[in-house]
Amino acid sequence: MADSTESESRKLLGRLREALAEDSAGQARLDRITHLTATSMNTEVCSIYLFRDADTLELCATEGLKKEAVHQTRMRLGEGLVGRAAKSGRPINSANAPQERGFRFMPETGEEIYSSFLGVPIQRLGERLGVLVVQSKEARQYSDDEVYALEVVAMVLAEMTELGAFVGDGAAMTARHKNPELFRGTVGQEGTAIGHVYLHEPRVVVTNPIADDPAREQERLNAAMESLRTSVDDLMNSAMGTDTDSRQVLETYRMFANSRGWLRRMEEDIARGLSAEAAVEKEQSVARARLRSQPDAYLRERLQDLDDLSNRLLRILTGQGAETGAAMPENPILVARNIGPGELLEYGRALKGVVLEQGSVGSHAAIVARALAIPLVIHAERITTEALNGDPILVDGDQGIVHLRPEETVANAFRDKIAMQAHAQERYASLRGLPAQAKCGSVVALMMNAGLMADLPSLEGSGAEGVGLFRTELQFLIRSKVPRRGELAALYSRVLDAAQGRPVVFRTLDIGSDKVLPYMKPQDEPNPALGWRAIRVGLDKPGVMRMQLQALIRAANGRPLNVMFPFIAQFDEFRDARQHMLAALENEDRLGHVMPSDYRIGAMLETPSLAFAPRQFFEMADFISIGGNDLKQFFFAADRENERVRRRYDTLNVSFLRLIEHIVARCAETETPLSFCGEDAGRPFEAMCLAAMGLRTLSMRPASIGPVKHLLRRVDLTEVKAVIDRAFASGEQSVRPAVMDWLTTEGWAVGR
Ligand code: PEP
Ligand code: MG
Repeated sequence: MADSTESESRKLLGRLREALAEDSAGQARLDRITHLTATSMNTEVCSIYLFRDADTLELCATEGLKKEAVHQTRMRLGEGLVGRAAKSGRPINSANAPQERGFRFMPETGEEIYSSFLGVPIQRLGERLGVLVVQSKEARQYSDDEVYALEVVAMVLAEMTELGAFVGDGAAMTARHKNPELFRGTVGQEGTAIGHVYLHEPRVVVTNPIADDPAREQERLNAAMESLRTSVDDLMNSAMGTDTDSRQVLETYRMFANSRGWLRRMEEDIARGLSAEAAVEKEQSVARARLRSQPDAYLRERLQDLDDLSNRLLRILTGQGAETGAAMPENPILVARNIGPGELLEYGRALKGVVLEQGSVGSHAAIVARALAIPLVIHAERITTEALNGDPILVDGDQGIVHLRPEETVANAFRDKIAMQAHAQERYASLRGLPAQAKCGSVVALMMNAGLMADLPSLEGSGAEGVGLFRTELQFLIRSKVPRRGELAALYSRVLDAAQGRPVVFRTLDIGSDKVLPYMKPQDEPNPALGWRAIRVGLDKPGVMRMQLQALIRAANGRPLNVMFPFIAQFDEFRDARQHMLAALENEDRLGHVMPSDYRIGAMLETPSLAFAPRQFFEMADFISIGGNDLKQFFFAADRENERVRRRYDTLNVSFLRLIEHIVARCAETETPLSFCGEDAGRPFEAMCLAAMGLRTLSMRPASIGPVKHLLRRVDLTEVKAVIDRAFASGEQSVRPAVMDWLTTEGWAVGR
């Protein structure tokens, strides 16, 4: 039976190919396809529904239903059986359609006389394009073979849609990948960029979905599979001895590459007339549809592995993709589903912006994008399926919005915005050599946050007085194994060279929670943000921390050294960490290394508990830096990574400012220098309020130094403090409205 249905399928595809090869317009092609399919499958009706927009399906061609309904009948995603097939990405097969749940009767089509219904989604790599339907009067369930045959036709339709085969004569479809598209994502890194799409993994275009020589296609598939297996084995061999995680992923790859089930399905597709690449894509589409609806994280990951492997196989078959190296367009904006920190760093500052479908605010890629000051938008759903290499694209990292192939008016408005920002930057540049001295005479030291060598040139450009926070974990995150002491010492030394005598505060390794090292066994913790992280790891397993401290001392090589320990929650943690530093100094001295000319050992205050530590802690710390990002998340019990809650609580909330007030007072009692290095330090309005609360050192992204200085130089901090005090007394929840009103009456307009 299988053989005869396979040859039927092949015959139909052969006829479809002839029809598609004819030089006819899009609508005529669609009409012909419905006619051929209905005839071949012995059904009275065959109809093609395509998406008009993301939410609306339109009847675009039919054999058997009333012709007047074409381009008139529409339904929403999920509505009726057609809408349901589109939404679920799965076939709907019913012997008695009018009795089905959700059936929607469309009188204009004349379909009431047809009992049986089979609708299969037309989708390409998980992207919904439409639904292909056959209907018959006879009440019968369609056989598995018939479902399969219709899926194969749908697959060909999807490929041809992608190639623009149905565009034209106004009626059928608008061209794909030509219209402007807007994507609303999440801010990963502020900033704006204008440029052209550069796909991290270029889309593979299949130009030959139908093939008439199954034996040859089978051979091509076998050869490609062989080469895939070899490349996975090579990867495995080169990964020998590396961490178990990468090995696990590769093991899964190997399992799929040898999976009979996967191969068998593709062989069946080929036997029915698909080319080898169309067969790979068809199974990939099925896997992507499952991926979309799979709630289990583990299975989702496995499906993701299969997806990656299918991509590799497609590249081997078509000879397209990364190996052939698409040239970088001018002002490249990287578009990807996701990207690792190392890969992003390799592209480096050549990129003008980055847009990801996945990722999170605290992901390593986001950390690197931030360090490189490249605008980043994450969660831009579907962008990799919509964007083509070289497409014009605008990235608004301030709003988390991306315009793909923008209209001219949008592009112009965007250019204006960039010009205004450039103008403001010029104004800030003129302040570069001036102090951040407020009208009341108070001077605030503005420092910058850094984490990469590439950040250091910003010291000059921004006018920062030093590096208030050097996040050392980036060097660990972007490598596949623990960096060696010598490497680290050389890097830290270059950082100090670049700082040219300005202070640099090195924070020891802050890992755990969202920052998991690729070569570190992830801890299966129910609540990683509250788990084994930062100094807790450092104290329990001091090997790496000791090595890092030695590297820092050697890097200083007679210069001043500032070291700060992250995430100290109670006094003894600081005392013990400090002891490690003192021991390292002693040891290095004994080994004959040059001692730092001066050293200061500080703590990051990132948990509310530390604000209430014994006085001895404040006396012992040479300086304290408030890690506002973490402090705020723990104070309000609101995960900084969770989009739902992370903006819920205001930094200028009275309770939080009272905590800041308390910390300022405790440090004043013991004359312990205090700074603030969370993201809020770089927001002019928040920075002004923090300064009014008594902070005299703020450390921020380099790009924020100009705007913060600009505002600080124009206000009297004692006046700001008076407004804050009045707001405290008035019983308001946040001082923001009061301070904002005051600023406005002073003639200021400050963006958040
Ligand atoms: C902070 O928590 O505010 C901070 C500066 O550290 P990180 O953002 O690296 O956790
Ligand atoms: Mg922190």
